[in-house]
Amino acid sequence: MTPRFEFTIHATDGKARTGTIAMQRGDIRTPAFMPVGTAATVKAMKPADVRASGADIILGNTYHLMLRPGAERVARLGGLHGFMGWDRPILTDSGGYQVMSLADLTKRSEEGVSFKSHLDGTRHLLSPERSIEIQRLLDSDIIMAFDELVPTTSARDLQAAAMERSMRWAKRSRAAFDGGGDHAGRAAIFGIQQGALDQDFRKSSADALLDIGFDGYAVGGLAVGEGQEAMFGVLDYAPGQLDPAKPRYLMGVGKPDDIVGAVERGIDMFDCVLPTRSGRTGQAFTRRGPINIRNAKFAEDQGPLDPSCACPVCGNWGRAYLYHLVRSGEILGAMLMTEHNIWFYQALMADLRAAIGEGRLTEFANDFRTNYYNK
Ligand SMILES: [Zn+2]
Repeated sequence: MTPRFEFTIHATDGKARTGTIAMQRGDIRTPAFMPVGTAATVKAMKPADVRASGADIILGNTYHLMLRPGAERVARLGGLHGFMGWDRPILTDSGGYQVMSLADLTKRSEEGVSFKSHLDGTRHLLSPERSIEIQRLLDSDIIMAFDELVPTTSARDLQAAAMERSMRWAKRSRAAFDGGGDHAGRAAIFGIQQGALDQDFRKSSADALLDIGFDGYAVGGLAVGEGQEAMFGVLDYAPGQLDPAKPRYLMGVGKPDDIVGAVERGIDMFDCVLPTRSGRTGQAFTRRGPINIRNAKFAEDQGPLDPSCACPVCGNWGRAYLYHLVRSGEILGAMLMTEHNIWFYQALMADLRAAIGEGRLTEFANDFRTNYYNK
C-alpha cells in the first residue's frame, strides 16, 4: 500500500541530500522544484505540459483560492485536483504570507488575521483553524501551518513576538489538521520555522516545531529582500536545526543560483513564481544566465533560447520568432517562454539530483555558477 507520506534519502553529498517522498498521489523526487499554480493554474501552461517538464508536485495559493473561486466551491466540485486537471501531489501555502502582503486593512490578533479582499472588499478572517480547513476543502496533499511574518528589518522584539505567535499557531494548525478526519489520513502537514536572520530565534522556532512534530519543515521568512548573502548566512545553520529525517522546504526561492546554493546547504524543496512570471515578461533562463528576449540583438537570431535545453520550445522555435511573439504581445509568446523556463528549472533539479547521487555536487555547482555568471 502506498504510504501517506514517506521520505527516503537515497544519497547525501556534503549537507545535500537526494531522495523520494512517497505519497498517495505520486512520488516527489528531491531536491524538488514546485511550479506555482496560484489560481488553480500554472499560468500559461496546461497541466500535462507541466508534468512533461518533470514536475512531480505543484503549489496552490490558499489566499487566492479562498477568495476566488472559494474553497467551499472547489470542494463541491470535487477538490482542486479534478477542478484543474492535475492528479499528482499539490502543496498549498497557508495564506499567511499573502494575506499580510496583498490584502487591504489587515488586522492581526492572537485569533488570526482579519482582512478585506483585494478583489471585492469583502471581509474575511484567516486563522490557523480556517487556513487548515481551506487547505482540506481544496484536498491539498501537503498542508502548510499558518504563520505570522514580519519583515527581516523589523525591530528585534517584534521579530521575536511574531516567531513566538507563529509557534502557537503551528500548534493550533497541527491540532486542526489532526481533527480533519479522512483527509488527515492521506495528507501531510509541514511546520514553518521563523526567526528572521537571528540564529537564536531560529533555534527556538525549530525546537518548538520539533516538539509539536510535523511531516516536513519549511524555512520561512527568507527571500523577502534580505539578499542572497544574508539568506545563505541563515541557511548555513537553519536546516541543521531541523529534523534530518524529514524534508526541508525553502519557501519562495528562487533564482537558479539561489537554488543551487540552498541545495548545497541541505534544502530539499523549493517553489517560486520566477520561471512563470519571467516567462510572461520576456525573460528566459539559460545555463549562461538570464536573457531578455525583447532585446533587439535577438531579432534575427534563429538559435534556440538555450542550446543545452531539451524542451519542446527550444526544439521547435528560435529566438527570432520568440522575439517577434513577445514584442507583438502574442499570447503564444508568454506560453512558450513559460514552458521553456519551467523545463529549465526541472532540468536543473534533475542535474542536482544526479550530481548528489554521484557525489559530484561541488563540481557541478561550481561549473553551474561559472557558466551562469560568465555569460
Ligand atoms: Zn528550452
